[in-house]
Amino acid sequence: MNKPSQPLRETDVLVVGGGLHGSSSAFHMAQRGASVTVLEADYVGRHSSGVNAGGVRTLGRPLPEIPLSLMSREIWHTLAETIGDDAGFVPSGQMKIAETQAELDECRERVDLLEAHGFSHEKLIDRETLLDIEPNIAPHVTGGVWVERDGYALPFRATTAFRLAAQKHGAIFHEGTPVGRIEQRGERWLAHTPSGTFAAEKLVVTAGAWAGELARQVGEPVPVHPEGLMLMVTHRVAPFCRSTLGATGRPLSFKQFDNGTVVIGGKLIGIADLPARHGEVDFARLVKSANTVVDLFPHLRNLGINRAWAGVEAFTDDSLPVISPSRRASNLTYSFGYCGSGFQLGPGCGRLVSELVLDGRPSLPLDAFAIDRFGPMVH
Ligand SMILES: Cc1cc2nc3c(=O)[nH]c(=O)nc-3n(C[C@H](O)[C@H](O)[C@H](O)COP(=O)(O)OP(=O)(O)OC[C@H]3O[C@@H](n4cnc5c(N)ncnc54)[C@H](O)[C@@H]3O)c2cc1C
Repeated sequence: MNKPSQPLRETDVLVVGGGLHGSSSAFHMAQRGASVTVLEADYVGRHSSGVNAGGVRTLGRPLPEIPLSLMSREIWHTLAETIGDDAGFVPSGQMKIAETQAELDECRERVDLLEAHGFSHEKLIDRETLLDIEPNIAPHVTGGVWVERDGYALPFRATTAFRLAAQKHGAIFHEGTPVGRIEQRGERWLAHTPSGTFAAEKLVVTAGAWAGELARQVGEPVPVHPEGLMLMVTHRVAPFCRSTLGATGRPLSFKQFDNGTVVIGGKLIGIADLPARHGEVDFARLVKSANTVVDLFPHLRNLGINRAWAGVEAFTDDSLPVISPSRRASNLTYSFGYCGSGFQLGPGCGRLVSELVLDGRPSLPLDAFAIDRFGPMVH
């Protein structure tokens, strides 16, 4: 309960979780005049949002995510005007490489499928075009898929930029403030923390891998589980690759920064410790990914690794996020479970959350992301 010395602190909206999705949602709501308080257990950007690979990728998205992802990408391209910082966004293009004829056929089927649904952002490219774009790739490649307007940005800077932009519009951030319990009393939501109770008419849960526990408290459990996703960064090497790369037949996400270092990942699963709020690297699995890179760029064989790390990310059973009003309680909105691809979606989903909260209806259909789509679960 709230201590007598600490009066109930009240705003229009409480946001639980200060990752990119919480910060972006707070920005979009505060910009429209709502008073917003963000409660963050650790510090803003401490988890996935601050430590990810920075891929701004519409390429390879599941069909239901594509409209959101394309809308979000337009915000990335105008970030400096929108929040006063471009977050280091580089429109490098993203490429998915095929290494066999069968993989190229798979790429062709994907592009045909998208075209049948009216999407033309992914382009099939042949081997010659691929080698024109990236001349240093190993010659065994057969072609791939290319998205010119995709790119990458700097994760911690992006999350911080949204936080600062939200604060400029009056949003208040409390770090080191874990929410243990949420409850709706009358017209108010209460969030209980070790530093007192916060209150608001509306509640937004953007608590990443920890969101499942809060949904459970409201009586709508979802199949969401944590994974520790890993990345490694190399020593500096002379520029050899401009675009952001993935592979068709094996996990890979790969980019070279202007300073020469190369970041290597691709949904590589390490260890996630949810209670300790911590991810750990599994070096044996990292080796696999390093081998993929050397197959594609043999000249990197002797390049050293500077460091490796793991971030805790939320995965759902159907690999889609939950972006949804509660089906059990009023004035409660969820946005979590981004399954290793939520950085790119942050700017756009923050806007959609602001529409759900302030207008009651989003400007894009969100039915595929409803919290009750999994059916009843055992509590
Ligand atoms: C290694 C790695 C690489 C990735 N690469 C990419 C990529 O290239 N492109 C891409 O699009 N995506 C990528 N992702 C995924 C992306 O980072 C995430 O999907 C996204 O950042 C999720 O943002 P979020 O705000 O939902 O969650 P988070 O960043 O986890 O933020 C949630 C916040 O809520 C806080 N919180 C939790 N519970 C509570 C509570 N009870 N009270 C208060 N605060 C609480 C947490 O402390 C945390 O700060 C990657 C992820 C990882 C880990």
